[in-house]
Amino acid sequence: MSKIIIAIDGPAGSGKSTLAKMVAERLGFTYLDTGAMYRAITYLAIREGIVDDEEAVSKFILGLDVTLKYENGVTRVFVNGEELTDYIRTPEVNGKVSEISAMPAVRKELVRMQQQMGKVGNIVAEGRDTTTVVFPDANVKIYLIASVDVRAERRHKEYMEKGVDIDIEEVKENLRKRDAIDSGREISPLTRAENAIEVDTSSLSVDEEFEILIENIKKKINL
Ligand code: C5P
Repeated sequence: MSKIIIAIDGPAGSGKSTLAKMVAERLGFTYLDTGAMYRAITYLAIREGIVDDEEAVSKFILGLDVTLKYENGVTRVFVNGEELTDYIRTPEVNGKVSEISAMPAVRKELVRMQQQMGKVGNIVAEGRDTTTVVFPDANVKIYLIASVDVRAERRHKEYMEKGVDIDIEEVKENLRKRDAIDSGREISPLTRAENAIEVDTSSLSVDEEFEILIENIKKKINL
C-alpha cells in the first residue's frame, strides 16, 4: 500500500473534519485540513486590512509559506512561521472566508501547496474541492451531505463549547451564505465528483458515519 489518497468533500457542517480526522487516525494517515489554509489567509487579509481588495490579496498570497501540523485533534497552522491556530475559527473569519476562497489567485496558490503536500501519500484530505480539483485521481472520494438545520446545530454546538455566544439563526444564515458562495463561484465550485461516494449524515451518529466510511474505503483499497 503506497501513496494512497482519500479525499473527503462536502458543505460546511456536513461532518468532514470529524470524520476525516477519525479515518486518518484509524489508518495512520496524515490529515490534511485544506479549510485551515483558506482560513489562515482570510485571517491575515482581515488583519492587513485588504480583505475586500482582491488585487491586494492576490499579490499578498504569493510567496507565503503555509504549514500545517496536526497534533492532538487540532490542525495547527503557521504562515511564514507565525502560528495562527487560535485566530482562524472565529465568526469574523467565517464571515469572510468564502469570499477569500472564491479568489482565483488564492485558490491557485493553495491548491498548488496542497498538491505538493499530497505527494508524500497516505493522506486524508478534507475540503470542498479536494475530490474534484486538488486530488481528482484520489483512490477514494467521499462526499458528505446533511440538512442545513443539522449542520447549523453542529456549528452552534462547536461555538458554545468554545464560549462563543452566537444565535443559531445567525449560524444558519452564515452557512446558507457560505453554501451559496461556495456552490456558485466560478472556480472550483462545491460539487460532488461523479465517482464520489455520497453519505447523508443528517440522521446518523458519528460512529455510524465512521463505520460507513471505513466500509467504503475498505472496498476501494486493500487495508
Ligand atoms: O472546512 P472549513 O469550514 O474550515 O472551510 C472554510 C471555508 O474555506 C469554506 O467555507 C470554503 O469557503 C473554503 N474552502 C475552500 N476550499 C477548500 C476548503 C475550504 O474553498 N478546499
